[in-house]
Amino acid sequence: MTQSPAPRPPMTLLIAAPRGFCAGVDRAIIIVERAIEKYGAPVYVRHEIVHNKFVVDSLKAKGAIFVEELDQVPDGVPVVFSAHGVPKAVPAKAEERGLDYLDATCPLVSKVHRQAERMVTAGRHILFIGHKGHPEVIGTFGQVPEGTMTLIETVEDAEALAPVDAENLAFLTQTTLSVDDTAAIVATLQRRFPSIIAPKGEDICYATSNRQTAVKAIAGRCDAVYVIGAPNSSNSLRLVEVAEREGTPARLIQRADEIDFAWLESVSTLGLTAGASAPEVLVREVVDRIAEHFAVTEEQVETAQETISFKLPRGLEAA
Ligand code: SF4
Repeated sequence: MTQSPAPRPPMTLLIAAPRGFCAGVDRAIIIVERAIEKYGAPVYVRHEIVHNKFVVDSLKAKGAIFVEELDQVPDGVPVVFSAHGVPKAVPAKAEERGLDYLDATCPLVSKVHRQAERMVTAGRHILFIGHKGHPEVIGTFGQVPEGTMTLIETVEDAEALAPVDAENLAFLTQTTLSVDDTAAIVATLQRRFPSIIAPKGEDICYATSNRQTAVKAIAGRCDAVYVIGAPNSSNSLRLVEVAEREGTPARLIQRADEIDFAWLESVSTLGLTAGASAPEVLVREVVDRIAEHFAVTEEQVETAQETISFKLPRGLEAA
């Protein structure tokens, strides 16, 4: 006699919306795909086009070759710069070598670059709030002459800062920071340096803040939260922190094979979200894998609708 399988325990999945791909990531991926169509493979890409292994592997399969430095790009082949932006020296070097290059820098990162240039031209020293070593930070520092920008990572940095000219400061931020942490750093700077100039509009981008608001809305109702994203994805890491601050254990996973079912043993409501560089197919993969072990009820919790999209560079628009 065959035994019927044990009933699966119930699990409610609260799925945050918005989640996953933002307009800048969408655009960057399309740029690589269209470049391969236009020029033929291989097309070189400097740095991971967006911080997601699944996306990078899919583009590799289509003919993209990923490198970290321009020196690794042979003469005569096109190169794409990643969504995070690059120091000015990089396109300058590409031009010097006569390389065809396509800039997939997110327009919202480029906006910060232009503000940095304007602030320096106006004679201001910039305090840049961001995470040391992140490619976006390296790219933004590379827009202005050395010594005109100082990195601030924490409230402690903001408290300890001893600027040469406290009356002549401005601040900008990385686009993918924690909204709450950044507000605390900005408040410290504004208290210490009342004449500091703020950026025109918010630098933390709509996608970062919408995803943080959405995960905040579900975290309090969940026993645990999984954020789908890469360990080097700044906005994904921030989503984990936001959920944890709501008092809910949260973990980052890249794919379904990283689900820790022992961790889910006492969980009856699980939150799910995805960073701006994680495609929806990975969210579905995680939901399907969980459904193999639990009787799943899905609930979407939407806190905003996103309709934004960015133009492609000239020459790559759809025919
Ligand atoms: S997270 Fe924001 S800044 Fe980064 S690519 Fe997406 S829209 Fe652009």
